[in-house]
Amino acid sequence: MPNHLFDLIRSRMPAPASPFITQPDGGAISYGDAEAISARIAHALVGAVVKPGDRVAVQVEKSASALMLYLACVRAGAVFLPLNTAYTLAELDYFIGDAEPALVVCDPSKAEGIGAIARGAAVETLDAAGEGSLITKAASQPGRYADVDRGPDDLAAILYTSGTTGRSKGAMLSHDNLASNALTLVDYWRFTSSDVLLHALPIFHTHGLFVGTNVVLLSGASMLFLPKFDADAVMALMPRATTMMGVPTFYVRLLDHPGLTREATAHMRLFISGSAPLLADTHRDWSQRTGHAILERYGMTETNMNTSNPHDGERVPGTVGFPLPGVSARVTNPETGEELGAEEIGMIEVKGPNVFKGYWRNPEKTAAEFRPDGFFITGDLGKIDARGYVHILGRGKDLIITGGYNVYPKEVESEIDALPGVVESAVIGLPHKDFGEAVTAVVVRAKGAALNAAEIAAALEGRLAKFKQPKRVFVVDELPRNTMGKVQKNVLREMYAWTFK
Ligand code: AMP
Repeated sequence: MPNHLFDLIRSRMPAPASPFITQPDGGAISYGDAEAISARIAHALVGAVVKPGDRVAVQVEKSASALMLYLACVRAGAVFLPLNTAYTLAELDYFIGDAEPALVVCDPSKAEGIGAIARGAAVETLDAAGEGSLITKAASQPGRYADVDRGPDDLAAILYTSGTTGRSKGAMLSHDNLASNALTLVDYWRFTSSDVLLHALPIFHTHGLFVGTNVVLLSGASMLFLPKFDADAVMALMPRATTMMGVPTFYVRLLDHPGLTREATAHMRLFISGSAPLLADTHRDWSQRTGHAILERYGMTETNMNTSNPHDGERVPGTVGFPLPGVSARVTNPETGEELGAEEIGMIEVKGPNVFKGYWRNPEKTAAEFRPDGFFITGDLGKIDARGYVHILGRGKDLIITGGYNVYPKEVESEIDALPGVVESAVIGLPHKDFGEAVTAVVVRAKGAALNAAEIAAALEGRLAKFKQPKRVFVVDELPRNTMGKVQKNVLREMYAWTFK
């Protein structure tokens, strides 16, 4: 039996000397190097007791070596388990206990602490420069490796969900979940070996790890690999790139950069955004400044990518486009599961080869989030419009129920965002003794704008039904966001929990 994912990668590799990863500090890895380095690391993994099916938990800074470790795990039949670099030892204790890895790879500074909670797992190190005990061990290993047999349904990775409601769950992703989705995206976004992807995303999350790197690998393209997002560094590299994948915050920050012009982006063919909603204003400002319409797509840890605006057709701001080829999407009544028609708001459900195999050691949660006909309940509320474009109106858990009425935060946010002097907003429900929840708006005002909370509230009066109007408006300098640029509404709900008490 072949190795489903790595055989596909190998079958599409360009000539060994072709560039795969270019690091701005000068280091470069060709496709031939990537094959040899991942072979050496695969040998080192096996030497460090990793058997097929074992989990390899990885909490390291972004480096080309870290990416080679991902490929090595795939080749060795291990399950790659990347962890957010922000997690503390207390949080790691939960992940290690839950995943029971055979090996933990971490930054040298954390090796001692992790050793104490490793529960018998081996511990190896890998630092931000891509060096450490794992790489030292790999250096003396052969540059060829007989890949371990893995079928389409075997696990390639477990990615823990961000866990804003309750404990993080491990999403089990198979070789074919990753392979099929990347193949679809290469085609849909027209990636070729001439592409150079500007890669400034973290690689512990599905966006930078699977969307970014697997699409590059399966098209024989190359990437400019930045350790993290930095607007100056991105602008400096833009003339050498053809595509960029970013979270909305990247685009907002780049719009603040004086160097962002048509000329500076003339070499680019495609800008892609996802992981959080891209404001329609950002989309328009970007088009005006650069002449490029950002392509917004929608995915999640559990499903890889589900929908995308078209490469050739109209990229509609505020929408996440059409279901990808092979992916079915529908909107259902959250209570009854009954399918709804075009333009009706409900729960977004998806089905396809991209959808994960379930939550690690959590059959109850898995069963609760799949319909009997195999559709996965995403937890996102939205609608499919008459033209087939999918719109996301927020997470189901962010739906506000006030006095028995449903309020979709996005609808209120869109009205607020349209007011002159407003940059963006987050609308949340706060506990209220009469209404159950009270609609509350947290608004970021443009620099220099004089708009105040009372004026914002007054401006909404004619625009929204009374029950949708915020009962309280807070004006702030910025919204709390996680590393993927998602607004942390749970943090806002905690911060303002006192408001109606
Ligand atoms: P994660 O599992 O961390 O990738 O988060 C997935 C969630 O991010 C989805 O369920 C959506 O709520 C949100 N998301 C991803 N892409 C988009 C997008 N383009 N627009 C709005 N929300 C998005």
